[in-house]
Amino acid sequence: MNADTATGPKSRRFQRPKLSNLIADDLRHWIARDRLKPGERLPNERTLVEHYGCSKGTVREALKALEVGGLVKMQTGPNGGAQVQAVSIESSTQQLRTYLHFLDLDFQQVYAVRRTVEVTLAESVVGKLTEDQFQRMEDNVARCQKARAAGDRATARRLEVDFHDILCESCDNPFLVFICRFINGILRDLVEFRRDENDARDAFGKHNTQSHHDLIEAYRREDRAAVGKISAEHMNCAEGFMSRLDAAFRDNLLYFDGNA
Ligand SMILES: [Zn+2]
Repeated sequence: MNADTATGPKSRRFQRPKLSNLIADDLRHWIARDRLKPGERLPNERTLVEHYGCSKGTVREALKALEVGGLVKMQTGPNGGAQVQAVSIESSTQQLRTYLHFLDLDFQQVYAVRRTVEVTLAESVVGKLTEDQFQRMEDNVARCQKARAAGDRATARRLEVDFHDILCESCDNPFLVFICRFINGILRDLVEFRRDENDARDAFGKHNTQSHHDLIEAYRREDRAAVGKISAEHMNCAEGFMSRLDAAFRDNLLYFDGNA
């Protein structure tokens, strides 16, 4: 038995929690309990040092942990200190991507979730789309067709996913939006097709254009049943094409350009 697999007192050694982690946890509780809003400030460094009876360095470490998690931002200057901020979708996305990086995610697992959540989201925005969104969806389909006609598959793929992001804008369930946007992001940034089958790629492109076109029409009619049906078929077909083209995720979930 080697040291890594040994069990016993050594491997179960009591781990004293780091003081800065305890302070960071306490500050999180405090922000939640007092319902602090983005823009509100935490007490200054000196007050926190007195309150926790610890060193300046420990308080700074605790605040740094909150800053890295995106919950506060540090302001410099005479009125500086930690200010509460809403955690951005970009930083949460990066966290979830980092988590998934080590788990060998495949597209079947993604579609097992997408098949449900994308249809739920699509149905949830019936009657809520604005004329501006209709215009952008129509424009998206037209640009996508143009890109395919010009042989620019990369642009066409990106636009196809962008179409689904437009739907997210009108959904009032933030959790559903986060999941759908997260999935859209990894489909847009990370999918590669390992089988070079031009007929299947073209058919996939045509299918996407037709589905998006049909969705727009159903949304215009505010026909919820049709939206649900088209969306469900679209997810099934997309998964089938991904399978035919042997889709895989590129192994760079750790890198996320939130500004892309
Ligand atoms: Zn689509």
